[in-house]
Amino acid sequence: MSNSDQNRDAFRELIEAYALGSLGPEERASVEAHLATGCAECAKALAEARWVVSQLAYLAPEASPSDMLRGRLLKTVRAEAAAAKPEISRAVRSAIPLWMWGAVAAAVLFAFYNAYEARLVQERIRETQQALRIQLQLQEETARQLALARREALILMDPKSVRISMPAESRNLPVLQATWHQALGLVVTGQKLPLPGGSRTLQLWLIPKAPGAKPMPSLTLRPDAEGKFDLLVINPPDSQTETKALAITEEPEGGSPQPTTTPIWVGAVAGK
Ligand SMILES: [Zn+2]
Repeated sequence: MSNSDQNRDAFRELIEAYALGSLGPEERASVEAHLATGCAECAKALAEARWVVSQLAYLAPEASPSDMLRGRLLKTVRAEAAAAKPEISRAVRSAIPLWMWGAVAAAVLFAFYNAYEARLVQERIRETQQALRIQLQLQEETARQLALARREALILMDPKSVRISMPAESRNLPVLQATWHQALGLVVTGQKLPLPGGSRTLQLWLIPKAPGAKPMPSLTLRPDAEGKFDLLVINPPDSQTETKALAITEEPEGGSPQPTTTPIWVGAVAGK
């Protein structure tokens, strides 16, 4: 029995392919020869496989396999229909002709496979694009940070930059240091600053030399958790020569168009 058991296993593997009409002529012939011996196991397996295929046929959506494939499948299932055996259940046979459900089932499987493969490819493309986008964003962000850090270093190191000391007007707070480079911009730094209450922030103002001119709003920044303040202004709203002083006030989050509190820090721009 062990030899026939092995044979049975080998044929059972082919039964599904046989039910789908996807075997080559030699394999088909050997399966048919085996079925002709009256092997009950394989006959049962074939009936089950055909039932599955017939169920697929009921689910058939619009599908159009290539002409070549359709031709091959129709040839296969017609040949099979000619040699159809009585183990096919009567229900399935009366619902749909054998050649039709065979062809439709194959078409359905083909369509399923194509859709499955197309979706896999699309998913891979989407994942790759997403990874690339994230990588690019990281690179851009890193490059941007580096450019800003380099710019700030150049402003701080260039002997041509104007240095402005900004003491606190009334409170006992650390002095801020402003460094203003004609072309590269303005940096204001300080250490150990108290955090403004709530979401309030510190805002830089340029006080113009022109009499009666209003303070010009610049950027806002909250000191970090350690009280470190490091503000880089790439494009100050006015030039060194037109500016009398720099001032910093506490303002609501996002800043104000004009100061709403008296300046905490003020520094005169000496100019050159
Ligand atoms: Zn068998």
